[in-house]
Amino acid sequence: MRDLRASPSDLSELRRLLRERFGINDFRDGQRTAIEHLLAGRNTLVVMPTGSGKSLIYQFCALALPGTALVISPLIALMKDQVDRLSALGIPATFINSSIGAEEQQRRIEKMESGQWRLVYIAPERLRSATFINALRRVRVSLLAVDEAHCISQWGHDFRPDYLRIGAMRKALNDPVTVALTATATPEVQDDIIGQLGLPAVERVITGFARPNLVFHVRFTPDLQSKYRAIRKVLGAVRGAGIIYVATRRDAEELAQTLEAEYRLPVCVYHGGMERGQRALAQDAFLAQENAVMVATNAFGMGVDRPDVRFVVHYHIPGTLEAYYQEAGRAGRDGKPAQCMLLYAPQDRNLQEWFIENDAPSRSDLLRLHGVIASRAADGLVQLSPDELYRVTRLSEVKLRVGLSHLERVGALEMTSGEAQALCFAVRELSEDALSQIEADIRRWRAHKRAQLDKVIAYAETTTRCRQQMLIAHFGDTSEVRAWPCCDFHVREARGEAHPQFNVSAFPRPQADKAQDKQHSVDVTAQLLNAGMSIREVAAQRGLSLSTIYVHAAQLITAGRLELHRVVSAATEAEIRRAIAQVGSTERLAPIKALLPDTIDYGEIRCVVAQVKGPAAGRTGTDERADGAQTKGGQTS
Ligand code: ADP
Repeated sequence: MRDLRASPSDLSELRRLLRERFGINDFRDGQRTAIEHLLAGRNTLVVMPTGSGKSLIYQFCALALPGTALVISPLIALMKDQVDRLSALGIPATFINSSIGAEEQQRRIEKMESGQWRLVYIAPERLRSATFINALRRVRVSLLAVDEAHCISQWGHDFRPDYLRIGAMRKALNDPVTVALTATATPEVQDDIIGQLGLPAVERVITGFARPNLVFHVRFTPDLQSKYRAIRKVLGAVRGAGIIYVATRRDAEELAQTLEAEYRLPVCVYHGGMERGQRALAQDAFLAQENAVMVATNAFGMGVDRPDVRFVVHYHIPGTLEAYYQEAGRAGRDGKPAQCMLLYAPQDRNLQEWFIENDAPSRSDLLRLHGVIASRAADGLVQLSPDELYRVTRLSEVKLRVGLSHLERVGALEMTSGEAQALCFAVRELSEDALSQIEADIRRWRAHKRAQLDKVIAYAETTTRCRQQMLIAHFGDTSEVRAWPCCDFHVREARGEAHPQFNVSAFPRPQADKAQDKQHSVDVTAQLLNAGMSIREVAAQRGLSLSTIYVHAAQLITAGRLELHRVVSAATEAEIRRAIAQVGSTERLAPIKALLPDTIDYGEIRCVVAQVKGPAAGRTGTDERADGAQTKGGQTS
């Protein structure tokens, strides 16, 4: 193959190669720029949306440059597809990962050493093998392509500790020309990628984020009724399939039930708490029906290929604008008009803040995790399944993942193999210094997450800017949004309408709204409790007393919006029920309390009483609205 490095600007020559070898007529904008940089030997960071053709960039360069391109990707399932496609085009390519046997891996490595592949795909875990790195040293690596490059950044949601090994490997290979590619990287994450890879200079190619067929709206929906109203409006106005994203599993179930009852629409639910089979069924049902509505948590969407989604509503604010754009961007993949709507209630911030607090492990979580692993080690080595680790530590999936990666970073653990069924570790001491270092990292991480959340709020509250422009600028894409209509801000401006003010001044509202404020407060408690927080945690988070939160909980139990066992254990419930039976009345709590040990709180009694009395309508006074019921049975607006 000819070395095109000598004539990087010979565009017609590049186009000829593109047509002849790939059967593609012309480059897309970002592709051409990136390819020109790489062929001229300049390291390049490519940030372009999914589907914009990032892989062609390194595939093309692999063919145009002498030697072998090494492609690092965490998506093992996709490697085979790419390799098959390249092979069909007559381009020698292979992948080396755990999905093939050891002997076949060895055979492919030997062929790599003798320069027989133009492209070799590997998963980042491969870089743990010193033997593999040594084999690589004997290869003429023309190009290093780091796909899903945001995985290298701790700020990203997909942080992969193994990606941190790429920088050292790159050095060991004498700094080959490198292209890092991702569909999601804010300028901060971009800097992190460049720093972690150790790229001395880099060209950034950031383009293609505008989505001219999407219209972005934000609705100020300070309470449940207004959220339901907004959803009804969308369902009434937009025909076709849609997705409604909610923040918690519980909300997904509830909202789906409500919509199904009210609209008799095919409503599907999808969240991480469902079994794999159920999730697959829900996904298939969504794909199969023309006007299906999917109510889902952010667990839904990756790899779901439905181009004709006509609307995406966010029932709660997401944690970052990247997440928002990615989820909202699932609308209108067919290029036809589609709506993206964010329902904004200032108090929803609490829920996101709780996620920020709760996703990161505490000092005692880390000690427990390390302790459990160390206690099972023989000669410093241990093998555990992820399920077992969960069972013995009781840490959430996120905390486990984050905790393990931190312990690895400080050298207290080394994961020697990370297959789905068995995690193998070499265990070392967890020093006080290392713990403090992790805590400092986690503090920085939380601060970063809060700053990201602030940007979501700024997006929701802006009354002076094009929303779509704001979104693409967030990714560092400086092109101008020319589409019409692009967002509610510009639509209102065109109609000469005033912009609504949904900033803090609208909150707190006047005294007359006090009853409604109380109701908001109960709603927030409901969200937090249903997201899994304890009464104590909700009280601490909100700066309210325990007894206030118990009063909320009791109201929610009466309204059927909270399960008793989220706030009172079965054993305590049994004790309280016995006391109630002895007293023979639930009119006053004091006599019941008198029969019980001091460790049982008035609040717990209140909740059990609420459960015993059941959902008697109209009994609970001004605060307890039958909002759920009203909305469920209510008229459409
Ligand atoms: P990404 O990696 O950015 O998600 P892919 O590389 O998978 O995107 O490309 C998406 C699709 O676009 C593929 O089917 C690919 O063949 C096609 N494609 C890429 N570049 C071009 C181009 N210049 N012209 C037409 N189709 C292209």
